[in-house]
Amino acid sequence: MTSLANNVSLSRPIEGLMQDYPLTLHHIFWRVEKLFGPKEVVTRRERGVHRYTNADLVKRVYRLANALRGMGVRPGDRVGTLAWNNYRHLELYWAVPLLGAVLHTLNMRLFASQLEFVIRDGGDRFIFVDASLVPVLQNLQGRLEGVERIVVLSDDDEVVPQHTLGELIDYESLIAGEPEAFEFPEVDERAPAAMCYTSGTTGNPKGVVYTHRSQFLHTMGAMQVGSMGITEADVILPAVPMFHANCWGLPYAAGMSGAKLVMLDRWVGDGNVFVDMAEAEQATILGGVPTIAMNLLTTLRSTGRRLPRVRRMLCGGSAIPENLMRGMDELGIPLLHAWGMTETSPVCTVAQPNSQHLTESERFRVRLTQGFIQPGVELRIVDLATGEPLPWDGEAFGEVHVRGPWIASGYHNGADPDRFTADGWLRTGDVAKVSPDGFITLVDRAKDVIKSGGEWVSSVDLENAIMGHPGVAEAAVIGLSHPVWQERPVAYVVPRPEHRDDLTADDIRGFLSARVAKWWLPDEVRFVDEVPKTSVGKFDKKALRANAAPLTSA
Ligand code: AMP
Repeated sequence: MTSLANNVSLSRPIEGLMQDYPLTLHHIFWRVEKLFGPKEVVTRRERGVHRYTNADLVKRVYRLANALRGMGVRPGDRVGTLAWNNYRHLELYWAVPLLGAVLHTLNMRLFASQLEFVIRDGGDRFIFVDASLVPVLQNLQGRLEGVERIVVLSDDDEVVPQHTLGELIDYESLIAGEPEAFEFPEVDERAPAAMCYTSGTTGNPKGVVYTHRSQFLHTMGAMQVGSMGITEADVILPAVPMFHANCWGLPYAAGMSGAKLVMLDRWVGDGNVFVDMAEAEQATILGGVPTIAMNLLTTLRSTGRRLPRVRRMLCGGSAIPENLMRGMDELGIPLLHAWGMTETSPVCTVAQPNSQHLTESERFRVRLTQGFIQPGVELRIVDLATGEPLPWDGEAFGEVHVRGPWIASGYHNGADPDRFTADGWLRTGDVAKVSPDGFITLVDRAKDVIKSGGEWVSSVDLENAIMGHPGVAEAAVIGLSHPVWQERPVAYVVPRPEHRDDLTADDIRGFLSARVAKWWLPDEVRFVDEVPKTSVGKFDKKALRANAAPLTSA
């Protein structure tokens, strides 16, 4: 009898009995409203700061939601923002997706033709623009047919620059009379919440569309101790533009955790403003690309100021040079290196040493890698020529593929489908090696790695080695075609101002010979005033290659 009863219960089908609770931004907003009302949101202004609490933010988000609905914003509509890091932009970060519409953050540094493409390709019906950025839209005058309304974000004392864009709606007047309550619709967790175009250097930018679910899970991931480790007690100061790569997920991480958020408006690249705000608001977590960290280091060194409350600075977007990491350590600001891209929401790996890294030098070395694969992300490397998976031995390098719930499954309008493999991975275009314990080290971009005599030369390693020379401010390396070797490295070097007249190609080669293999030494060192940069401040090697004179030996 007993065994028969057991058999019966074993064969009965079973259902999972957990709630199908949607993973949407509504939950994060619920926390902002119910749990963290008194926490502050601070924005730098031309003079002084704007300061309010989450409770004030929530009321304005409700008013904005009413106004958006009144303007005819429907679920799925794209609402473009051309704005710096400020509280009005943050209000849009909430109200637009909570309504079921899609927040499309626009990069004001794109060329006019690219910006036009992005607005058109994204299908923006509405654009919210900072008063200071009206001239950027003015450049597109007559080319914004799909855009029905433009709303301008400005302070009372701010003069909107002259334009011929027709009637601009004033944001404050728009929301002024609206009720401070709103019933947000139910939104499917797989519905789009936001979109952000890649700032890649090849072809047109491509649209990445985040879902509520991807934003939710990325936020949970980013908060973890092994990731950015954000808590309620933190004061987050991102010097990362809110239009770039989902602002590294920091606005929503601040909402989820209850951390105070400090924003720099248009002064994201100004070292002095950064230090002023970090000091005055007692920031504990900073965020910025290595160039921003370098600015910060220079500012702190030259002024003697220190930021004792800061417990870490999140840093990624390009590799952290060793001297920068050391310099910041000396000032008590550990850089936390992370890797990712617009397509990956963006965080995929974070470089926190673990219990196996015992000595200081080992821990330092690990912190310089691009980091440990984060929960929620799967990663593989494949051979550049054959596409076969490669071992994680810390030696073999190949293209990085990733997959997971906050990784893009395709681009908007089906652009560049080859970036997605048939078995469900994103081809990142980055080349890396992986250590047996799951830390990745980026070697290059797949299109920048130099093929010389059947061997690979990492342009990034060469650049970093050259930038270790005390007379060098910046260096970018590209491969140029060579009749015998297929390609050979050429270095473009910007000397520091005080070495403009005395730094020579032999100095650079001499310095390198102690640091890299002989066959890696650049065939030519070309001195330039600056290295061309992309709209997000990375070396624009496509522009370098397009304008490069051929090798003299070729
Ligand atoms: P974006 O989509 O503009 O954020 O650019 C993403 C690209 O930036 C990646 O594919 C990498 O090539 C580069 N990148 C991001 N983080 C790092 C890092 N920590 N070290 C080196 N390169 C990085």
